[in-house]
Amino acid sequence: MNALASLLCARIAQTGPMTLADYMAECLMHPEHGYYSTRDPFGSFGDFTTAPEISQMFGELLGLAIAQAWIDQGRPRGTLAELGPGRGTLMADILRATKGVAGFHEALEVVLMEASPTLRARQRATLGDVRVTWIDHIDQLPEAPVFLVANEFFDALPIRQFHRDGAGWRETVVGLVNGHLAAGKTAPAPMAALEHRLKDVPPGGIVEICPAAAPIAATIGRRIVAHGGLALIFDYGGWRSLGDTFQAISSHAFADPFAEPGNADLTAHVDFEALALAARPAAAAFDTQGRVLGRLGIDARAEALAARLQGHALHSHRAAHRRLTDPSEMGSLFKALALYRATTPPPAGFD
Ligand code: SAH
Repeated sequence: MNALASLLCARIAQTGPMTLADYMAECLMHPEHGYYSTRDPFGSFGDFTTAPEISQMFGELLGLAIAQAWIDQGRPRGTLAELGPGRGTLMADILRATKGVAGFHEALEVVLMEASPTLRARQRATLGDVRVTWIDHIDQLPEAPVFLVANEFFDALPIRQFHRDGAGWRETVVGLVNGHLAAGKTAPAPMAALEHRLKDVPPGGIVEICPAAAPIAATIGRRIVAHGGLALIFDYGGWRSLGDTFQAISSHAFADPFAEPGNADLTAHVDFEALALAARPAAAAFDTQGRVLGRLGIDARAEALAARLQGHALHSHRAAHRRLTDPSEMGSLFKALALYRATTPPPAGFD
């Protein structure tokens, strides 16, 4: 049993089973043993690879979409923000792609929300001498126009999971079986927050809620409505949570989420409807990653880059293009949500 497992077993023995959300929070962000607190998990030698790590095209296209929105909105002074920037690759690509946009870098302050000290150091290294402000909490996002990106951020936020039982719900909790961590369920009880889901969830059906996500989306929505800006949120998930999507990933494969707490990435699919509802009265546009990148011009950009490549580099460039956009790869499992002012048309990339 690893050190975090021992700590969690001792805690459960004293105070009883913990919610999945508490378990995820400890596994991902425990200051000494947490998955993100202690490592850089990205890339082909890590546990998983994300869109900005797959190809520079992802950040370039997002950068140009944001720059277009910034120009359309009259080139305001404000914030260029990212939530959960990982290695800092996406922000670096956005900044490189927008170098030629007159006034863009001067007008916007780069603000990164990152909880892991290890990854903050990595972001500092990636971004070189770019001026960066790190924040811990979404409330620290300046009261100003905000142009924000978040890729695979919301899936890392802790979820609670409920199984419908009659008119009530049984919550998935983490307890002890023979001294080892294991999932169990509470007795059924009514849940005010899930009252509306009694209509569409059949008996035995599973609903997941992400308590931390709505306040974050709400703050982004408030900033956009009050000051202008745009948020582009990419992640895997769907328009409404249904079913068990809690999963552990280690070395690019599914793993047992309770075997080695802190050593596997724990995630759940993102409920984009919940984000859009929380962000109101900001407007929301929703589509697949493949279609959005297609409308932003990924095919033309891919061809332009391909013209300069050959051999293995060309082959892996083509594979990266496919991986980001093909419906059988990330193209349709991954979704894109844009939050924008309802008084303006949807941003580039969305219908
Ligand atoms: N966006 C990056 C990394 C995705 S992994 C990419 O696409 O490659 C999730 C990121 O969110 C990591 O940087 C992790 O440390 C950060 N993170 C997770 N929970 C967080 C929280 N509550 N507050 C701030 N950052 C968080």
